[in-house]
Amino acid sequence: MNISVTIAEGGLSARVARVAAIAARHADEVDVDGRFPREAVDAMRAERLLGIQIPSELGGDGASVTEIAELCSLLGQACAASAMVFAMHQIKLSSLVEHGADSGWHRGFMQRIAQHQLLLASATTEGGIGGNLRNSICAIEVDGTTCRLEKDATVISYGAHADAILITSRANPQAASSDQVLTAFLKDQYTLDKTHAWNTLGMRGTCSDGFLFKGEALAEQILPKPFVEIAAQSMLATSHLLWSAVWYGIATDAVARAQSFVRAAARKAPGVPPPGALRLAEVSSLLQVVKSNIVAGLKVYEEAKADPDKLSSMAFAVAMNNVKIASSEMILPIINQTMLICGIVGYKNGTPYSLGRHLRDAHSAQLMISNDRILANTSTMLLVHKQDTSLLG
Ligand SMILES: Cc1cc2nc3c(=O)[nH]c(=O)nc-3n(C[C@H](O)[C@H](O)[C@H](O)COP(=O)(O)OP(=O)(O)OC[C@H]3O[C@@H](n4cnc5c(N)ncnc54)[C@H](O)[C@@H]3O)c2cc1C
Repeated sequence: MNISVTIAEGGLSARVARVAAIAARHADEVDVDGRFPREAVDAMRAERLLGIQIPSELGGDGASVTEIAELCSLLGQACAASAMVFAMHQIKLSSLVEHGADSGWHRGFMQRIAQHQLLLASATTEGGIGGNLRNSICAIEVDGTTCRLEKDATVISYGAHADAILITSRANPQAASSDQVLTAFLKDQYTLDKTHAWNTLGMRGTCSDGFLFKGEALAEQILPKPFVEIAAQSMLATSHLLWSAVWYGIATDAVARAQSFVRAAARKAPGVPPPGALRLAEVSSLLQVVKSNIVAGLKVYEEAKADPDKLSSMAFAVAMNNVKIASSEMILPIINQTMLICGIVGYKNGTPYSLGRHLRDAHSAQLMISNDRILANTSTMLLVHKQDTSLLG
């Protein structure tokens, strides 16, 4: 038995707890230096977490999106950048698991991901299009058994550290901008020329630099389903749910810090309620709202997975959009409130109650596919779709 298999023993929560401990140890340094969270990602590999979503017959654990969301939240409580790397990898994997099962090449690729713990990155954002996921300028060219693609990919998180990139493009040079495909390129099949440096307010460790991507691969590496189906049936839902789980993790750790601050104040002055106690009670209720929103969204997704009609319905798309909007907007007032509870020791870096990193990381949530774009999409659907108001789910 090799070392990595030995380390990977134990339940999923034990495995992720070991990764989270390593991620937490390096979180501040990763943030300050804006460097890739190498130690945490190595630990994910050692604990064999990168393949957990892959079906067991292909070498994975067949973990559900709900289990993966819990891991994203636990990692988010330790280091948001590490958690986001993990979430983005799992989002890409969901496209393979849900839409690549009937393709020999993609089944083999999933086996390799599980066996070698390969890290997947995503390139959807494009110069001239921005975060408009459902349109591409670049087009893939198929020449016999080969395909070629060049893309001005303005944001690819951990692009320089990934083992493969899943990248959107038009289906061919004559295709309309919304007629897209998703292709998996392996590291030795592409070059990346850096065009933008990721020097940002938060999520600094995701190292989401911009690159000119040039790749050549086998044509069979293009996923066999149109991207419109992949986006609607798995990618948008898993993105909104797993991102939200990471953001919930950030807010959870902020509240935990505020709670220890209030407890310490209560110990110092027994019998006198600490000034932040009421604010803590208030923020605990807000955190529960975020949690309920994500838990309900996960339930909707797990139930819809068995029914392609539900997955493609407006009700499902509106529900998933709403999860993203609410969680990305609510974590900011929560963390702000924890800052008011902790005061200057929350504002200062390097204290047990520091919240600057949390606040800065949380600010990425509303931009990570602009909430304005998502609201515009939902508003169009609400012109014809009746909001689901039943408490029966
Ligand atoms: C931490 C992080 C990691 C990321 N990682 C990746 C990655 O790995 N791969 C990847 O491809 N991308 C990644 N992205 C990019 C991300 O998913 C979005 O595509 C990108 O942030 C959008 O950039 P933008 O705000 O310039 O563009 P746009 O979406 O074009 O928005 C620009 C502005 O225009 C407004 N706007 C645009 N269109 C509309 C509309 N229809 N209705 C209303 N308002 C509109 C928006 O409000 C916004 O203010 C990452 C982003 C973050 C923050």
